[in-house]
Amino acid sequence: MTARRIDGSAVARRVRDDVARGVAELVAAGGTAPGLATVLVGDDPASEVYVRNKRRLSTEAGMVDHHRHLPGDVGQAEAEALLDDLAADPAVSGILLQLPTPRHLDSDALVARIPAEKDVDGLSTLNAGLLAQGRPGLRPCTPAGVMRLLAEHDVDLAGAEAVVVGRSPLVGKPMAQLLLGQHATVTTAHSRTRDLAAVCRRADVLVVAAGIPNLIGADAVKPGATVVDVGIHRGEDGLHGDVRYDEVAEVAGLLTPVPGGVGPMTIAMLLANTLAAARTQQGHDG
Ligand code: NAP
Repeated sequence: MTARRIDGSAVARRVRDDVARGVAELVAAGGTAPGLATVLVGDDPASEVYVRNKRRLSTEAGMVDHHRHLPGDVGQAEAEALLDDLAADPAVSGILLQLPTPRHLDSDALVARIPAEKDVDGLSTLNAGLLAQGRPGLRPCTPAGVMRLLAEHDVDLAGAEAVVVGRSPLVGKPMAQLLLGQHATVTTAHSRTRDLAAVCRRADVLVVAAGIPNLIGADAVKPGATVVDVGIHRGEDGLHGDVRYDEVAEVAGLLTPVPGGVGPMTIAMLLANTLAAARTQQGHDG
């Protein structure tokens, strides 16, 4: 079997088009355009690229850019004060603190300054709790993007065996909870999992977010399974994921590439979250 390739770039473009239409409708209905505040601390080149793309695509969707750039040696109190200002600013619908922040900062304490209704990364304790309880809230963008890819490809989740590799608060944990919310039977694997390949082979749906290049090969994939590769690794010859694409493509039924799979969905879902946040704040949801 040769797997069908999931085109995340195409799905992301559709999501962004829907968001742009939603922004135009909000403004036409008397609301104000959503404002996105990306907050970058320091000069990490990869983070700069991510933030630049988020800003560009948000303005292309009709949103207002409230970007803030803090020096890498900024103090905790000053960074918190900036987040408090953004939290209080009615023009700012969503706040995204680009992670990781420099080591001397307490990033959990910074994220805690972002009010849940502006937490478009879905990382606040309140939004994480709402997800854990299966209640509505802003969801972390990458796992939300994976769910959208699965839905767009009619992947049947009710009763399916789903295995998530990774248990980070950013990806693995919320991913498992979202799959559970769609009635999959979910296993979470991590660095202490014994015989990872055997656990993964159980999966009808395998989502890999370990951050280890080439971790998953054909021996870890059930024939016909849907495999979603969240990993991103920058090599000299371009981007790679956690999954050995060529060999897994011989076994899987559906497979995301890197690049062009989950990556573009993350930004698209950030824009969707920012629109949803603006609608709620302006009383235009429902
Ligand atoms: P992370 O915080 O480093 O978490 C990695 C998780 O993988 C941990 O739970 C870890 O287990 C587990 N793990 C590590 N080695 C493993 C192994 N050998 N076998 C099984 N599990 C293992 O990383 P993250 O933030 O979740 O990101 C994961 C990957 O996704 C990275 O490559 C990152 O660049 C990428 N990413 C992509 C996007 C996107 O937009 N496509 C967004 C976010 C992240 P322990 O908990 O036991 O340590």
